Amino acid sequence: MPKEKPELSDAMRAKMGRKVPEKNPIKGTKFTIAISSAKGGVGKSTFATNLALALKKVGCKVGLLDADIYGPSIPKMLGIEEKPKSDGQKLDPVNKYDIQCMSIGFLTDQDTPMIWRGPMVTSAIRTFTQKVNWKDLDFIIVDMPPGTGDTQLTFSQEIKMDGAIIVSTPQEVALLDVKRGIKMFDKLGVKILGLVDNMSYFIGDDNKKYNIFGDGGVKKAADEFNKEFLGEIPINPGVGKSGDKGKPIVEEDPNNEISKIYINFANKIKSAYL
Ligand code: ADP
Repeated sequence: MPKEKPELSDAMRAKMGRKVPEKNPIKGTKFTIAISSAKGGVGKSTFATNLALALKKVGCKVGLLDADIYGPSIPKMLGIEEKPKSDGQKLDPVNKYDIQCMSIGFLTDQDTPMIWRGPMVTSAIRTFTQKVNWKDLDFIIVDMPPGTGDTQLTFSQEIKMDGAIIVSTPQEVALLDVKRGIKMFDKLGVKILGLVDNMSYFIGDDNKKYNIFGDGGVKKAADEFNKEFLGEIPINPGVGKSGDKGKPIVEEDPNNEISKIYINFANKIKSAYL
């Protein structure tokens, strides 16, 4: 097996007298925040979309960048069928629910499998961050692919990232990956705003709380690494249904208990930055 070359953190590069790569901010936004998960299927895209809508509801101007280039789900979740316009140089984001959106899914057929080599990933990310006419935004929320791969690396090394939120479910197997995710962002020098425990419990018709995937694991991981635990989001069938309809729950039913949780997260983020 060829030995993998470890990535150097900026701090290590500086210590070794090596050049620390310059990081470009995404033009047209004040802050860029990554939503990451170490594993697929934990609700990362659902979180990114609803958080973006909640930030809009608390008065921020928001962009949503679907960087999950292997499995873009933002077009479906927001019910966007339109293609972004281009002047041959730059792409205009698609506006939906007063949010500026960009996704590789706008440019490809939904059923096309995304097979990317490392340099293609880098090139797609450069296009999305440098060649999109993002306009007058407070925040761009970036929906990252799951894991700790090329996309995370390119973003962390080339783009000025202002924070990352890690979403997980409480199973042991998901938590192992969460720890890897925390270590990756720490090593790459991206500030972790906190961890979110999604689908953490279910309230039955009997009004009892069922911890279907386990209990307290995400908070424990946050404590272990000295990160903030941002809170829990329960399992709610309405979340999936509204996402499938192209109108996420925060937009469809802002007074729902889940929407209120998202709006609470949005207020926390707004007051931390603006
Ligand atoms: P990921 O981006 O991590 O792969 P998704 O956001 O696509 O995950 O979510 C995976 C599935 O879980 C989707 O069907 C979504 O509707 C559902 N889901 C996410 N969060 C919740 C929740 N809090 N309650 C119920 N279903 C949820």
